[in-house]
Amino acid sequence: MHAILDGVRDLLVGFATDVGLVRDRNEDAYFAASRCYAVADGMGGHKAGEVASKIAIEVVASEYGERGSAAFDIANCIGKANHRVIQASRNRDELEGMGTTLTVVTLCEGVLKVGHVGDSRAYLIRADSIVQLTDDHSVVGELLRSGLLTPEEAECHPGRHAITRALGFSENLDIDIGERQLMPGDAVLLCTDGLHDIVSDDEIARTVGMSNDPDKACMGLVKLARARGGHDNITVVIVRIEESDVPSSSLLVPEPLDASGASDSGGRSP
Ligand code: MG
Repeated sequence: MHAILDGVRDLLVGFATDVGLVRDRNEDAYFAASRCYAVADGMGGHKAGEVASKIAIEVVASEYGERGSAAFDIANCIGKANHRVIQASRNRDELEGMGTTLTVVTLCEGVLKVGHVGDSRAYLIRADSIVQLTDDHSVVGELLRSGLLTPEEAECHPGRHAITRALGFSENLDIDIGERQLMPGDAVLLCTDGLHDIVSDDEIARTVGMSNDPDKACMGLVKLARARGGHDNITVVIVRIEESDVPSSSLLVPEPLDASGASDSGGRSP
């Protein structure tokens, strides 16, 4: 785990990944570089899940590294990562059927861009409020959105770990893309389901709010998930936005935090 100052003094970043208490390997992967952050949660037998999430994160790292923040296209990048996972699974029998979630965000001039497939999540935390910016592409997520399940029923639904969209299965992948204006003091949090499945949104917001040090907040959240049984791998990335990353014009009209989210439900294909 590390806390790093990203740039001069405008972003503070923390990240942590933990195998948990039940799994024997960590199939999560993450990326945290200058103004680009991602998490991936791999699935598949043997080591395949680990390979899938690693490939996805490697593609994010190389695409962002090559293009830089101005030319980086999140949808295009996720499409490439999908293609690479499919190719790898075709080339090696032991990797057949592997897949991964992928949630990628970039920060540029006070705007957060989000690209997302799967059931990992991006949140925006502003003061005491927390908003989930991504839709869960899971059986339960779909049932919740269509009003066929209540949030209480969803918590113990047997299909809550079954995902409906992931990289690695079809070249025609629907990718959710969205964006949000950021405010000074906001925190952006990415995590895999090993965290959000057993730690509530309010607990996440409270833990992040308790410390200005995102590294400490990451450690606190991992500790909380482990205390609840740590049944899955746990990965969390927190980016805290300081004054100087937000253009002064956006300070004039504070945006209330609502639940409209960043996801474009129509999605977009690469
Ligand atoms: Mg998981």
